Amino acid sequence: MIILRGIAVSDSIGMGKAFLFSSKPPELRRVRIPEKNIQTEQERLEAILTSTGKELAELQAGIYKSLGPEFADFLEMQIQTLSDPALLETCKRNISEAYSAEYAFSKAVAEIAKPLLDAKDGLFKERLADIEDVTNRVLRNLLSLPSVSIIDAPSDSVVLAHNIPPSEVVLLDSRRVRGLATEIGGRTSHVAIIAKALEIPAVLGVEHLLEKINGEEQVVVDAQRGQVILAPTERRISTYRQEIRDYAARRKSFVDSAKQAAITLDERKIDISANIEFTSEIDAVQRYGAQGVGLFRTEYLFLTKRRFPTEEEQYAIYSEAAKKLKPHPIIIRTLDLGGDKILPGYEEANPFLGWRAVRFLFDHEDIFLDQLRAILRASAHGNVKIMFPMISDLSEIKRVKLLLKRAREQLTHKSQKFDSEMEMGIMVEVPSAALMADRMAKYVDFFSIGTNDLTQYTLAADRGNERISRLFNHYHPAVLQLIRRVIGAGHKAHIWVGVCGEMAAESLGVALLIGLGVDELSMTPCAIPVARKIIRNVKVEELRRIANRAVEYSTPVEVIRYLRRELSRKYHDLAVLFLGSKDICYP
Ligand code: PEP
Ligand code: MG
Repeated sequence: MIILRGIAVSDSIGMGKAFLFSSKPPELRRVRIPEKNIQTEQERLEAILTSTGKELAELQAGIYKSLGPEFADFLEMQIQTLSDPALLETCKRNISEAYSAEYAFSKAVAEIAKPLLDAKDGLFKERLADIEDVTNRVLRNLLSLPSVSIIDAPSDSVVLAHNIPPSEVVLLDSRRVRGLATEIGGRTSHVAIIAKALEIPAVLGVEHLLEKINGEEQVVVDAQRGQVILAPTERRISTYRQEIRDYAARRKSFVDSAKQAAITLDERKIDISANIEFTSEIDAVQRYGAQGVGLFRTEYLFLTKRRFPTEEEQYAIYSEAAKKLKPHPIIIRTLDLGGDKILPGYEEANPFLGWRAVRFLFDHEDIFLDQLRAILRASAHGNVKIMFPMISDLSEIKRVKLLLKRAREQLTHKSQKFDSEMEMGIMVEVPSAALMADRMAKYVDFFSIGTNDLTQYTLAADRGNERISRLFNHYHPAVLQLIRRVIGAGHKAHIWVGVCGEMAAESLGVALLIGLGVDELSMTPCAIPVARKIIRNVKVEELRRIANRAVEYSTPVEVIRYLRRELSRKYHDLAVLFLGSKDICYP
């Protein structure tokens, strides 16, 4: 038995058989074959291409059934690539020059990919990821190596990886996968966000994980204690089985009893809404009793498809979500690609400081307008609001407003309906926006503070880098001062201010943010029952005093120590929440 430590990003426990995920392509050498083998080699390759095509079609049908069409259609392009007669012909020609099937195939694929690699327009480059995927799959089948996508993770498995790119993370199936552990990733990395959204126990940033694993053993992901246990003893397995049962029972009772209104003891109403990445999460939003969606991260739609969806595809998804949630609001955030959510072909040296979100969309106006029109059209079917991420300068607000105006005119021209009063807001997640919030407030209907990025940019600490996770702390007084400033500026301009970063899903965070005066908290759906319990048992006046004091401390450790002590003293019944773990998905 080996016990490894990491960063727990959700507080539950999972157990299953190790499933190693590696996106590394198989090693390949230029191998020559004897001339007499040419025909059998050609037949071998043709058979593998056919069987791989069948494997992909089965996979696609399975994903379609289990996760829905938005996840399944990216495989279409891979299936088409394999069934292209020109590919087979080129492969056969290469083999006739006495190359092995593996080498002949990768040489043929390199020819197909060449124009894409040379393409100036990045849009073509997204096809490269599919070509790489399908190439790896065929080569692995030719070499009889195990498969490499997370969609292949079997029932009751625990996924172990160095890192998982967002395009793979979206394929995690919570019905099959019992846990997740990686060597890379912090508390607010997008792997962490998805694991929480899917309610999969996860421990990230586990050093030397892959060196210690042989691939066949049982693994426990203990995200309560931040441990990964490889090959646990029988005794430990039975203890964990009991803990998993107890946890499920506790959780059920908590969720059942937590659907009352989110009103404080001194009668202040706080809006609790949900952060979602996939429309399939709307069921959870309703089950946990959220008052709507405060953040719909639409970039996952792009990542699951691995291409830019059309206006019609987006309209269908947004309007369906708006109808389901009506009369509650849904805040649709425009594409936030970049940072750690990079489409293949768009790699940069400093992605978090680079071509991210609106910066990317300003250079791709056609993609931006497709999304704006789709969101506007969806607003005719429910309570839709639009939100723009990564705003760092007032000129960007003016520019998105001009584009919105253009999108409205285009729709009016085609007699298409939309809500002409649709609210428009921005995420305040870059320090410059927080500092200029008083000026920006005049141009928007609301602010939503993104504490994940605001913390990362204020403290110059990469949110996904476990080496400096010690520095990444949203209770840092510098971050708290900015939050206080944004709330003050918003209220002065009579607009509402929410928080949609992970801080809103922590017990201390909920209390502190209410004390600082926020109007809305948006969080991963499973955190809602606990947040509601806290809200119903506190007084805003008392929290205001505590929050004002907290902001005056000099270090995050002092702030946390003070909040724990003061809040648990004041609210005995909630002490277990304030003194316990940070995350409140799992009371
Ligand atoms: C944030 O930055 O706090 C936020 C909510 O957005 P994301 O996590 O998607 O960057
Ligand atoms: Mg952000």
